Amino acid sequence: MSAPHILILGPPGAGKGTQSATIAETYGVAHVTTGDALRANKDMDISDMDTEYDTPREYMEAGDLVPDAVVNAIVEEALSSADGYVLDGYPRNLDQAEELEDMTTLDVILSLEVGRDELIDRLTGRRVCSECGTNYHVEFNQPEESGVCDECGGELIQREDDTRESVENRLDVFAENTEPVIAHYDDHPGFEPIDGEQSPDGVWQDINTAIKRHVE
Ligand code: ADP
Ligand code: ADP
Ligand code: ZN
Repeated sequence: MSAPHILILGPPGAGKGTQSATIAETYGVAHVTTGDALRANKDMDISDMDTEYDTPREYMEAGDLVPDAVVNAIVEEALSSADGYVLDGYPRNLDQAEELEDMTTLDVILSLEVGRDELIDRLTGRRVCSECGTNYHVEFNQPEESGVCDECGGELIQREDDTRESVENRLDVFAENTEPVIAHYDDHPGFEPIDGEQSPDGVWQDINTAIKRHVE
């Protein structure tokens, strides 16, 4: 089989970014993530797209969805230049799921399941490397030296949307917009629910087994 097409779904804080990094490395595929792409382009001018705000920043800081037209264009461009990929952070509503169907076919759909209280603990304690984007947690996944990235020595920072208020809103946005996307995929070939409340290693073992069921 050619390089796998993997979709990873789950609420904010479920571990999509953490697991995608391992998937990308193990299977030699591109990590396509709308969150990182948007953070790198927070101040791009989207006013010609007839949107409420002129840049992605306002939506992201509040924890609301950035308009579909902006996100669809990012994903279409990224997938057209990738051979295999793990797609993380998209689709987040049913319209985006329809767009994705026109762009590509999916071999494996991983759905990470984690309860709300655990998600709040994970997101409010998340720290990310300002240089390379590696994820850490103040309690569950500490770097060797506090505030410093193990991978590249970069400074660890808290994302502007990992405040309690924005986190609560993101979980509500997920329940309203993205849970229907998961229901939409649950009879799709390759759909694999994963218990995301295990240790990062335990989650990875289940993910790797699930991928191998669909990819030679
Ligand atoms: P998380 O780690 O909480 O799952 P992401 O890094 O994936 O968050 O996304 C951060 C923010 O970027 C979202 O709250 C939203 O504002 C925006 N965003 C990311 N992906 C999408 C998408 N597919 N559609 C609309 N907005 C998106
Ligand atoms: P997402 O991309 O789905 O928003 P992340 O991969 O950024 O999620 O993980 C959110 C936070 O939870 C990070 O601080 C990360 O270090 C931590 N984390 C990830 N997986 C686990 C796990 N299995 N157990 C405990 N904490 C985890
Ligand atoms: Zn780093």
